[in-house]
Amino acid sequence: MSRLILGAVLAGTLLVPTHSLAEEVVVYSARKEHLIKPLFDRYTAETGVSIKYITDKAGPLLQRLRAEGKRTPADLLITVDAGNLWHAAESGVLAEVDSPVLAANVPANLRDREGRWFGLSERARTIVYSTDRVQPADLDSYEDLADPKWKGRLCLRTSKKVYNQSLVATLIARHGEEKAEKIVRGWVANLAAAPFSNDTKAMQAVEAGQCDVTIVNTYYFGRLQKKQPDIKLALFWANQESSGTHINVSGAGVTRHAKHPDVARKLLEWLSSAAAQGEFAARNMEFPVNPKATPDETVSAWGEFKADELNVNEAGRLQSAAIRLMDRAGYR
Ligand code: FE
Repeated sequence: MSRLILGAVLAGTLLVPTHSLAEEVVVYSARKEHLIKPLFDRYTAETGVSIKYITDKAGPLLQRLRAEGKRTPADLLITVDAGNLWHAAESGVLAEVDSPVLAANVPANLRDREGRWFGLSERARTIVYSTDRVQPADLDSYEDLADPKWKGRLCLRTSKKVYNQSLVATLIARHGEEKAEKIVRGWVANLAAAPFSNDTKAMQAVEAGQCDVTIVNTYYFGRLQKKQPDIKLALFWANQESSGTHINVSGAGVTRHAKHPDVARKLLEWLSSAAAQGEFAARNMEFPVNPKATPDETVSAWGEFKADELNVNEAGRLQSAAIRLMDRAGYR
């Protein structure tokens, strides 16, 4: 290119308003469109930043980011489960972000130590029981569901789901492999039916009398409760006398090869702000990670509980150990 043309190109660039150059951000999201679009629309209305996004399952999105490498158009990855976030960080597709705003808004146990991802909503995975056949006083903890008193009364979702891998990873972190395996073997021995493909089916099995207790993410319980307000199921906060109820996150990180890293960081900061957090969590009946945000009414109605304070990174770090353990224990 001649100096003259280059000069003209540069001059031309300077004439273009800066926002049309930089104020765009591309998001890959494993969080579903109906949960993120209303927030993106709000952000665009408030800031003028245009947000392009695609949604897909966590696995394919990560594969796509890895395959695209430096050519990726993605600036921000939103995904669910600490195990998936941990994997994304380990596979090198996320950048380290140093943001005092994010550090202030997201509790330390719900984000990556190196700033590669930040939790944006907190979900609890706990016990759901039949109000016809179980008294809350009969319930205690995840560990207790391995007790023979639950023989033929337990339903579980498949071990293939990352939510259960994360739960078992925290059992390993807490108890070590040997004891964790004993607990999982106890669950398997107590199963009333083969593991279900999703949390809702497991709860419906409890409702139908096939079993008396299961373990689910609370937002699935919330959805079922909205459809059937009189459903004879209730939540029980597990491990209140010990480690606290198992929690997990959905979250996001700026990509390593982002073309608009600052715009992406600002969007992430806004998503973690008290102004956005209430809606971000409420749309999926989850809990805000930012303690200054107000939780959704339905969610608050489930009552206060003590949450496990273990760093959710452990779910990722111990995920493959958890998968092997569940396999050994015969949990399919
Ligand atoms: Fe889910």
